Amino acid sequence: MDSINIKTKVCIIGAGPAGTSTSIFLSRMGIEHVMIDAAEFPRDKVCGDGLDIKTVRMLNHIDPAIIPDELMTNPEFTASWGFRLLTDNNKMMDFGRYPTDKELQQKPPLFIAKRMMFDEFLHGKLNLNMVQFYQGTKALEIIRTGNSWKVLAKRNDGTEMTIDTSMLVGADGDHSMVLKSVGERKVNRLHYAGALRQYWKGIDNLHPNNLIEIYFPKKYPMSYFWIFPQNNGEANVGYGMTSKVAADHSFNIKDIFNSLIQTDPCLADRFSNATPLETIKGWGIPFASLNRHASGDGWLLVGDAASMVIPTTGEGIGTGMMTGYIAAHFIERAVKENRYDNGMFTNYTREIQRRVTDDVKTYKRLMAISPNAMSFMMNNVVNNKLFRMYFESSLKKWVNTAYHKKVEVSL
Ligand SMILES: Cc1cc2nc3c(=O)[nH]c(=O)nc-3n(C[C@H](O)[C@H](O)[C@H](O)COP(=O)(O)OP(=O)(O)OC[C@H]3O[C@@H](n4cnc5c(N)ncnc54)[C@H](O)[C@@H]3O)c2cc1C
Repeated sequence: MDSINIKTKVCIIGAGPAGTSTSIFLSRMGIEHVMIDAAEFPRDKVCGDGLDIKTVRMLNHIDPAIIPDELMTNPEFTASWGFRLLTDNNKMMDFGRYPTDKELQQKPPLFIAKRMMFDEFLHGKLNLNMVQFYQGTKALEIIRTGNSWKVLAKRNDGTEMTIDTSMLVGADGDHSMVLKSVGERKVNRLHYAGALRQYWKGIDNLHPNNLIEIYFPKKYPMSYFWIFPQNNGEANVGYGMTSKVAADHSFNIKDIFNSLIQTDPCLADRFSNATPLETIKGWGIPFASLNRHASGDGWLLVGDAASMVIPTTGEGIGTGMMTGYIAAHFIERAVKENRYDNGMFTNYTREIQRRVTDDVKTYKRLMAISPNAMSFMMNNVVNNKLFRMYFESSLKKWVNTAYHKKVEVSL
């Protein structure tokens, strides 16, 4: 069988939200490149399907018309106006509401969209004049030769492919083989979570404005259960727990997930007539609190490969897209100067990490408090008029940022 040989300045491995965003912004800067992905799209990805406010911001960077013209008119994107907190004393507290202002009604802070569809939707924004995109093409080995890289890959039809590139972008997710080739993928349980997802239909009492629901079960520290509703009445239901806590207590998250649904007083009644639509599916979540060094001679990591998931919420789509946006700026300078050495990317890790500083600080504080203190906080501090007012005014500011403020990158 013939083999394919390609020479390029930039090669992106992985076409999830992080790799695809890198490609979209590189194209805009006039930089031709190659992107490969092992999967054929559309493909599933185990996820909560929550498109957080950072994702909304990055979609607005791609094109401000996407949200009003495409997401708001497509029933596969469920607009959500905030979140509902379920507390262990069996209360529901709602944060965020459908705005009365007509203009704000076109600016939801969140969406829910199945990854099977969302990742393919993002591919629709690729500029195929600038990117050679090979799906069903798995990178098997990466070799450093002088100042460049040789990527050895295999296509689903058996064709072998060799890509010679000056710049390698690791966008290949949590089990990144690029990371394994340039450094060490050692899991640190304090900065990692195990999580699982199951689609359901028929859950009782979902919120009419599709508030996403979050529940912190008191018995299980540093974990949360979610219900993310979709327009069609189905919901993405899941549960995740910091791996250190799971290991220290020998918790099995699948067993906990099942028992919460079947017996927890906050949940069981609502699930009694509901039906699961698939078997439970699990995957890892690499937290940004790890502060992974994400660049070197001729390489950058983006998204999960760079361990960029917000540790307090488990959201990594928005940070993945944002790392792609930032990476494109560093690559643009490298291509202009035709220099791909480590010195070109010295500030890259700092630039991506500063987007998550507050979340990482909050995570570290939460890790230090007891489950009882956490329960007290949820039932008393969060369920308080002043906190609600603070949240509503913060939400307005976040929405304004997501729809109107450009992400500035300092190289
Ligand atoms: C249960 C669960 C729930 C979550 N919920 C949310 C949520 O609600 N909201 C949110 O924002 N985030 C959530 N996350 C996190 C989110 O899924 C990830 O942070 C996000 O997918 C990261 O995007 P990425 O592009 O870096 O990686 P991925 O989306 O993992 O994409 C990586 C791509 O690389 C490809 N690839 C891998 N290896 C190779 C190879 N050798 N050669 C070629 N291609 C390769 C894969 O096929 C894949 O398409 C959740 C995660 C889990 C596990």
